Amino acid sequence: MSRPEINRRKFLLGAVSLGALAAAAPITNKAKAFEMFGFGKDKEPKAPHGKAESFPFELTDEEWRERLTPEQYKVLRSEGTERSCSSPLIDVEGPGKFYCAGCGHLLFSTGSKFYSDSGWPSFYEPHDEYSVGTSTDYKIGYARTEVHCANCGGHLGHIFPDGPPPTGLRYCINGVALEYVQDEKTE
Ligand SMILES: [Zn+2]
Repeated sequence: MSRPEINRRKFLLGAVSLGALAAAAPITNKAKAFEMFGFGKDKEPKAPHGKAESFPFELTDEEWRERLTPEQYKVLRSEGTERSCSSPLIDVEGPGKFYCAGCGHLLFSTGSKFYSDSGWPSFYEPHDEYSVGTSTDYKIGYARTEVHCANCGGHLGHIFPDGPPPTGLRYCINGVALEYVQDEKTE
């Protein structure tokens, strides 16, 4: 999907940290990935990352509540987690693409999707370097790498260092935060 150059520039200048860009790039060295995502000794991420203060797509809380279902709002806007094994997207094989249920931003494709047995749709990398951003959350007492839509900031899930090659990462994503669109068949 091509986007107007001006959006890209705005995006690069204002909305995303170096850490988020680095985090979205394919990572082949697992040790480096651990370090980058904060799984190292001191549990602090080495690369600067974190949630931007503003995003290209923003709505008021009231507008988000009108736009989203209660379950989508709980995940995307309140950093909730959907019930394990509840998403029909776990079994989707594609080919197709996954867009943010909040703003329509392209996030993942079936090319990097794998079955993880975790109970949530899993990917080893985002669609491209502009798809997602990351932050660290300590909600459950220890550091986890949170992943969110780079366009609206909507919470998507977390990244764990137990994924398959080539990145060794598992993007554990709430299916309710995604809209799946099957690729058109080419004859
Ligand atoms: Zn979004």
